[in-house]
Amino acid sequence: MNTENENAIFHKGEKAPADYFTGTAWVNILVPKDETGTYAVGDIVFEPGCRNNWHTHPAGQILLITDGQGFYQEKGKSARSLSKGDVVVIPSNTEHWHGATRDRNLTHIAITNSTAEGAVIWLAPVTDEEYNSVHA
Ligand code: MN
Repeated sequence: MNTENENAIFHKGEKAPADYFTGTAWVNILVPKDETGTYAVGDIVFEPGCRNNWHTHPAGQILLITDGQGFYQEKGKSARSLSKGDVVVIPSNTEHWHGATRDRNLTHIAITNSTAEGAVIWLAPVTDEEYNSVHA
């Protein structure tokens, strides 16, 4: 089955590592980090029901939502609904996850800074209970 979205801005890239995602996501690194900067830019497509693990970014992250419907949640806070045109500014060292709703894809561009600690520190998966609770 061809799951490529013909309206997508970018090619959907490679399957995201199952160690850090529940469900299926696709990652296209648009701008790799190099010696000229501390940031990398990627386009991520989450299929319905997919979310990444709880994680932090030592130097923060910016998400630009380009398609679909999803959620962003910081630990201990209510989830924020995401749709096309939304911008999420994630402070450094703030535990959070992002992903699609149960029945829609979510596509976002992620601009991720890094420090000597790296760009992301992966934590526990978002449980079904945690994920279901944001679909109130
Ligand atoms: Mn993140």
